Amino acid sequence: MEGQNKARTVGELRASGYTPVPVREEMRRNLIAMIRAKKEIFPGIIGYADTVIPQIENAIISGQDIIFLGERGQAKSRIMRSLVNLLDEEIPILKGCEINDNPFAPICRQCRDRLSEEGGATEIAWLPRHERYGEKLATPDTTIADLIGDVDPIKIAEGRYLSDELTIHYGLIPRTNRGVFAINELPDLAERLQVGLFNLMEERDIQIRGYYIRLPLDVYLVASANPEDYTSRGRIITPLKDRYGAQVRTHYPTTIEDEISIMEMERRRFKDDEIESYTPRYMKEITAEVTHLARESPDINQSSGVSVRVSIADYETVLSNAIRRAVTLREKLAVPRISDLPHIYSSIVGKIELEGFEDTKQEKVIENLTRKAVLNVFNRYYHMDRMEVVVAPFDKGLVVEVSDTLDSQSYLAIVRQITGMKDMIKVASVPDRPEAIASAVEFILEGLYLNKRLSKTKSEGKNVYRR
Ligand SMILES: [Zn+2]
Repeated sequence: MEGQNKARTVGELRASGYTPVPVREEMRRNLIAMIRAKKEIFPGIIGYADTVIPQIENAIISGQDIIFLGERGQAKSRIMRSLVNLLDEEIPILKGCEINDNPFAPICRQCRDRLSEEGGATEIAWLPRHERYGEKLATPDTTIADLIGDVDPIKIAEGRYLSDELTIHYGLIPRTNRGVFAINELPDLAERLQVGLFNLMEERDIQIRGYYIRLPLDVYLVASANPEDYTSRGRIITPLKDRYGAQVRTHYPTTIEDEISIMEMERRRFKDDEIESYTPRYMKEITAEVTHLARESPDINQSSGVSVRVSIADYETVLSNAIRRAVTLREKLAVPRISDLPHIYSSIVGKIELEGFEDTKQEKVIENLTRKAVLNVFNRYYHMDRMEVVVAPFDKGLVVEVSDTLDSQSYLAIVRQITGMKDMIKVASVPDRPEAIASAVEFILEGLYLNKRLSKTKSEGKNVYRR
């Protein structure tokens, strides 16, 4: 629609030749146009190009409502919100209408009355697409009034017809008429409400406080659910299940690469970031690897899942510990190290559910995941058969102490004492700055320890490596 010449009345709109279309048709038409123009349809959705996205596109081309099944932190909400990208920039509605009535075919009583009185002069408004999206997190105490609407007992007392739409106070779904409505955690909706929702979608009428009200809405409905809640008997009534045309299973990033891309995109950034920071590639890989290992761990409840938010929070935490160190020691560059990793306990522990309850076990589980992650990543960088040169000084009695509060210059002294260390640092490909070299030294020492070439003891917050 061109800016200045937009129609302002029903008459002008008719004269312009504009034809309103149902929301499914609009989304389908725009999706096909975007595919044809090779436009990115779901920006910021990583790792779903060959799995989830084709299924969504097929559902939209078919005009089917979608239910997304997946564990927490699989971008379900983000995908549902991004469906708004498939709507027109704006659409005309009758001005002041609570349910975004089509100017040519209003369904609410006020608009029908107004249109018959004012005819072509009836005013219209243009609704931008971001206002055509509604969502609700389902809970057991969500009501019909929240979602669909309520009748006003005062107006009933005034003697209006009981089925008169004038007495309805509209809920969230009617207010998203001609748009997209998302229900998060659908199985948590009371059965009575699921019946109401089904009737609304299928029969287009709804019973409120015992009165039947006809409400022929045009809403594209999407929902999300945890697969376990969804499949467990009785959590979703069968007719409603059948009503959703497409079931799309989401998943966690299948590669470390995708996990890292999401961490980079989502980590919190601050405008007043004066402290220069650098996170070595291996530290990002370790953080992502911890999450991937957690998703396979028998000690962790897999039906509730291990969200991508675990990776993001862990990444933020190790970086923050490096920033704290840089500020404390007055160093120029903040670079996360292996000795920063124990701090991820606070960011991970609240986001996973362990099988079993003791707190001591929690700590052990997370520590083991971290060790395994470091070992896996280290062995991708280094081959153990070339380690003997680096281990040799330890055979002669070298003992090295490191910690997350040790200044970076001290690590340069360690490098000077160990033949071959420089070459190993090159493999880690970090910048030639003391803070980054300190991080690489810890990575190598810990890798040698985990490969049983060195021993490690902990004393007063320090890691002590020796033969
Ligand atoms: Zn209306």
